[in-house]
Amino acid sequence: MSQHRAAASRVTPGNAARKTGAGRHSAKHRVARRNTPSSTQVVGLTAALAAAAGAVGFSHSSLAAPTQANSAVNIAALSMGNGQLSELTTARIERRNLATRDSSRVELAVTQTNKKQAAADRTAKARAAKLDATRALTAKRASALAKAKAAIDLAQQKARESATRCEMVISDYRITATFGQGGGRWARNHTGTDFAADLGTPIRSVMKGEVVGAEFAGAYGRQVRVRHEDGTETWYNHMSKFSVSFGETVYAGDQVGAVGMTGNTTGPHLHFEVRPGGGEPINPMPWLRDHCGLNP
Ligand SMILES: [Zn+2]
Repeated sequence: MSQHRAAASRVTPGNAARKTGAGRHSAKHRVARRNTPSSTQVVGLTAALAAAAGAVGFSHSSLAAPTQANSAVNIAALSMGNGQLSELTTARIERRNLATRDSSRVELAVTQTNKKQAAADRTAKARAAKLDATRALTAKRASALAKAKAAIDLAQQKARESATRCEMVISDYRITATFGQGGGRWARNHTGTDFAADLGTPIRSVMKGEVVGAEFAGAYGRQVRVRHEDGTETWYNHMSKFSVSFGETVYAGDQVGAVGMTGNTTGPHLHFEVRPGGGEPINPMPWLRDHCGLNP
């Protein structure tokens, strides 16, 4: 404003030559302002306006009066008004553009967020599908494994229940008497094989069979008799205890009792007999070898 006033004071009122010049000047300014608005041009324009106003003897406030004399001034005022309007409009447009840019940015951000969300959804879906597939595969594998295991169990069960399978009747033994041996200890030749072992050592059925005797039997002491599928009986004698009872089915390796000293015996041992068809005893050794592949 001080520049404005200073410029006005420098112009001497009554300079007629400046009058028409001011009009041309302002017109030129109008064009210039449209292209490159600048503060110095505004100052120049205002100075010209003031000069015009002084020339026709009007005060600054009465510039708007529509007379022949101040037509140039009106043009200048209009010009200035246009300049200001232009500036204002530019600012408004700028603000609008900014707002538009801002809203565009928001839209862009929203779009990007949506895209990210969609991508995340796709990833989550893919993961879920993969997890489902893995679960299905795991279940399938578990099922196959269970079936295989069941098959193995069944095979093992069948093998265990096989009538021809054999297990050794005792472990950690020492043969102290063989079949057919004579001597003062027996009324007749020895009817079985003696396996000396510690008291309580488990005694097992050599093959699958049915328990046809589990009782105290005189010189035999505690005795278990097992009848096998071909009718052969195996006898387990001098036991300290019974692990099975009459009528029971036993499989090869099932414990029937434990080593003892019951009946006619001088030390803890298993007196083992083999009686085909439940009749007279035979030598257990070749029988074990022939039927079971065992060579005690
Ligand atoms: Zn014996």
